[in-house]
Amino acid sequence: MAINGSTRWVGLLGCPVAHSFSPVMHNTAFTHLGLNWRYAAFAVPLAGLRRAVAGMAALGFTGANITVPHKEAVLPLLDQVDPVARRLGAVNTVVFGPDGKSRGFNTDGTGFIRGLAAAGFSVAGKRAVLLGAGGAARAVAFALVTHGIRKLTIVNRTPARAGGLLAAAARAAGSRPGQVELAGIAWEAGLLHACTKEADLVVNATPLGLTAENWAYPVSPAAWLHGGVFICDLVYNPVETELLAVGRQLGCRGQNGLPMLLYQGVAAFELWTGREAPVTVMGQALQDFAARC
Ligand code: NAP
Repeated sequence: MAINGSTRWVGLLGCPVAHSFSPVMHNTAFTHLGLNWRYAAFAVPLAGLRRAVAGMAALGFTGANITVPHKEAVLPLLDQVDPVARRLGAVNTVVFGPDGKSRGFNTDGTGFIRGLAAAGFSVAGKRAVLLGAGGAARAVAFALVTHGIRKLTIVNRTPARAGGLLAAAARAAGSRPGQVELAGIAWEAGLLHACTKEADLVVNATPLGLTAENWAYPVSPAAWLHGGVFICDLVYNPVETELLAVGRQLGCRGQNGLPMLLYQGVAAFELWTGREAPVTVMGQALQDFAARC
């Protein structure tokens, strides 16, 4: 469908954005449903974020995705922020109303849980080891404690950041006092070995494994991973990371970050369009794109 005066626009704001898989996923979905919509990525430095958000509202954009490094900085620029995004302190999806008013959401946690569910893994009653305590780890930790995880151990390089996330996770688990055990450990082979031995799920929410040269693990997964855990590596490029490769050799089931990327996108698509997202078509678009990268 040709771009014309009726085309509706959704934009990604981040810096950098050239590597993003989101344009191909959403544009394929719009085309599949015969919608005259387009999704475009815009590299916007932090200093330009306020003007970019105001510009989108003024130009009549229908929605936006927000990515690194703007997920937190965008909150005070929005007219409304839904409770989940407010609690996370991060927005990844914006909906602009016909009057230009902006509402912020966070679909990362939903995307993570739905990605696991698509592989037949339910977190309720399980024990998880989470690598990382940054933005993605925060969305994962909140999703885990609000979906009934029994034990969550956070592994992080900077102990203070892990401590902050553990405290926030404890507050999020407030409605389930005593039902979720929270712990933090350092990157130490013996501790990791002991924790993963009793775990059901290992989640990598760090950039470790992105490239072998720049993102080597402080302690190789071969030294601590166990067969029997489900592995969710939020990294999706390469499609088989070091963690997943070691897990495969041990007979672990697992997935890379594409399912989470897909389902956070599905939730965003449905917020913008009010229509059911073509999940299979979007997933195939991601797989095809990843294979070409
Ligand atoms: P972030 O906020 O910058 O957090 C990075 C985390 O990784 C921190 O916990 C940091 O530890 C840790 N880390 C970084 N370098 C490390 C190193 N050399 N050794 C040990 N730990 C290290 O980043 P983010 O936004 O959470 O993103 C994390 C990863 O998740 C990225 O690869 C991103 O692409 C991916 N992600 C995927 C999806 C998806 O849909 N699949 C969604 C969001 C993010 P310190 O606290 O010690 O600095």
